[in-house]
Amino acid sequence: MRKPKVKSRKAKIQRRESEVNEIKLLEEWIESGKPDCGINPLSVEPLPDKAPVGRLADGSFSRYTGCTRFSQLPLSKKTQDGLALSKYKTMTDIQRASLPHALCGRDILGAAKTGSGKTLAFIIPVLEKLYKARWGPEDGVGCIIMSPTRELADQLFEVLKSVGKYHGFSACVLIGGRKDIDSEKEHVNGMNILICTPGRLLQHMDETPNFDCSQLQVLVLDEADRILDVGFKTQLNAIISQLPKHRQTLLFSATQTKSVKDLARLSLKDPEYLSVHEESTTATPSGLMQTAIIVPLHQKLDMLWSFIKKHLNKKILVFLSSCKQVKFVYEAFRKLRPGVPLKCLHGRMKLEKRIGIYSQFREEKRSVLFSTDVASRGLDFNKAVDWVVQVDCPEDCATYIHRVGRTARYLSGGKSLLFVMPSEMKMLEKLREKKIPLQVTKAKAEFLQSVSGLMAALLVKYHDLQPLARRAFATYLKSIYKHKDKEIFDVTKLPVEEFSASLGLPMTPKIRFLKQKIKGKTVSEALSVMPENITNENLLELPIKNPNPEKSEEEVEDEDDILLSKDTQNAGEAKTAEAVDALPASRVLKKKKLKINVHRPLGTRVVFDEEGNTLPPLAKLAETKVSADSVHLDKNKVNERYAKMRQELKLMDKEDKALDRQRLKEKRIKEKIKWKRGRDEEEGEEEDEDDLLGSDANVGRERAKKQKIYFDSDGERDDDSFKTSIKADSVSVAEQEELALKLLSSMHS
Ligand code: ADP
Ligand code: MG
Repeated sequence: MRKPKVKSRKAKIQRRESEVNEIKLLEEWIESGKPDCGINPLSVEPLPDKAPVGRLADGSFSRYTGCTRFSQLPLSKKTQDGLALSKYKTMTDIQRASLPHALCGRDILGAAKTGSGKTLAFIIPVLEKLYKARWGPEDGVGCIIMSPTRELADQLFEVLKSVGKYHGFSACVLIGGRKDIDSEKEHVNGMNILICTPGRLLQHMDETPNFDCSQLQVLVLDEADRILDVGFKTQLNAIISQLPKHRQTLLFSATQTKSVKDLARLSLKDPEYLSVHEESTTATPSGLMQTAIIVPLHQKLDMLWSFIKKHLNKKILVFLSSCKQVKFVYEAFRKLRPGVPLKCLHGRMKLEKRIGIYSQFREEKRSVLFSTDVASRGLDFNKAVDWVVQVDCPEDCATYIHRVGRTARYLSGGKSLLFVMPSEMKMLEKLREKKIPLQVTKAKAEFLQSVSGLMAALLVKYHDLQPLARRAFATYLKSIYKHKDKEIFDVTKLPVEEFSASLGLPMTPKIRFLKQKIKGKTVSEALSVMPENITNENLLELPIKNPNPEKSEEEVEDEDDILLSKDTQNAGEAKTAEAVDALPASRVLKKKKLKINVHRPLGTRVVFDEEGNTLPPLAKLAETKVSADSVHLDKNKVNERYAKMRQELKLMDKEDKALDRQRLKEKRIKEKIKWKRGRDEEEGEEEDEDDLLGSDANVGRERAKKQKIYFDSDGERDDDSFKTSIKADSVSVAEQEELALKLLSSMHS
């Protein structure tokens, strides 16, 4: 028994020795051929394929700057074997450009087109850095790789697993939406490589006892510009503040930031800026055929339907701007049975479901996936996507590039189609300025199959589709309103009536932020009949202002109160809506008064009639039936009136406060009822939008939001989640009250 032990110990020592020797050799090799700072190795003459590699006969080392094959790089045998196993031989441009610098330990800012192999450009240096540092299980977290989405994090993990197969590092994926955070907390400290979304990482930093990344060697930001975006700003700042400054930092994206501020935030040290596509003639892969088609808003669904019907054997990825639109189009089209499997993916789905759908779609040959921008970044589909169709115009050129980048990956080809509305034509100019080659065509009338008639029929037949359609309508308008580029996106120019009809809605929903009933007019016409003292600008700002500018579009889109529900809700919904509406309605009126009062000179008084319209001061005191010239104001009367008004105001104030207290109380009771129902049921509901951004750290907010969904009957249509949502909704108001009473009495006793 003893002998083999000695043998294995010997083997271990030998292995360690050979590793030490290998590392020494690699370090010398790397040191001897360091590329000059600031040069792009692509500009160096390529090393011939057959040139000798490693230590040469004269004791010097072969050149690795400018080499074209992985086997010519100073990499450990374990990494070389991992690459060979995954059949990677020749390097792509971004790999050739960045690896020589990254292997020397330099900070990198890498920009290269979508599908050009950026993942390996950071996975390899990570493995090598930890290997050369002889990183072991007891050393803890040595590398953090951040991804903006969960799907991408999973994909990076797959690449790490295959290329790092022969290394002994432990690695895990930390993403929001997982229930097993407790077991994660137990293990996270023993992991060497963390692949994570910013939110989940921060949650561990905040909650996991002794979470330690003080020894961090490498920090990687994939899709770096997205992570440096405002959406992640606070999270990222909090994370960075907890990381050691002395580390290697690698940033990669297809659209890269050069902002000095961003780089300062990350404390990069003389980063190498390696942009592969900057000099090339196009910003998108050359195998990508890009077309734009001019489609008016109300014909988008017809066009999309016709397109899908024409490409039944293809794999198509369809981008829409909000979760609600994705849901609606998916549900509606599914019921119309186009003859190809349909799927949908958005940030409001449960994690398991999201990952399930994503991995199914990855493998499928013919399928249509409707998605929000959650699928626009980084994802690589095993069976190539044939078409990327952008039904809603992307917010900016970067988003366009990332969306179309889901096809034409690596050396394969692909096609993309962008729907542009006549009001968005400027977008085409901007895309051309960014070196994006686009062919523009007009829709052929005979090609279009109209589905809006069918939509109306569907909405009658399936009651649950109508609220979805209304929300799709509202969130689309809102997304346009929120897009920054006002040259292109002008919500006031949209033909909302036609748009609403095209979704099959019997009447145009009233949108709170557009306020006015829009009858047969465009929004701009409708707005032009507004009272003068309310400008379009402040009107639009009032109710839809994003209370948290750092929340992304998708996160806030669920604020259903952008829909003025009273007139448009059908009878079934009215019950829940009533309770919710009673208070906000009075608040809206108050807001309106406040808004109008803002600009009046100090000390003047504005009076309102019953409808809330402004009247001239003291108008109410005028005798209504006498002619204008005989208007006579009695001083006593005036004082009397003022006293009465003061009293009224006091009373109103009291009432308001009482109402407010009542509302708060109700809210607390509801919350408690939900607590009682237990966590599990809560988990069954849709995920918080935040999770898309991985910020499930904010449990409190998540709970609040879930509660909203809870009473909203806005569950996923299929599977268990729908059942839970029905169950939740079927609790009547009376039952809730009973529960609340029980709860209250139990609290008092
Ligand atoms: P990016 O991050 O630039 O969008 P990925 O890293 O996801 O691109 O790579 C795109 C595809 O190209 C992946 O399927 C990957 O396996 C493949 N790929 C990357 N590098 C190479 C290489 N050197 N040789 C062959 N295929 C590669
Ligand atoms: Mg990528």
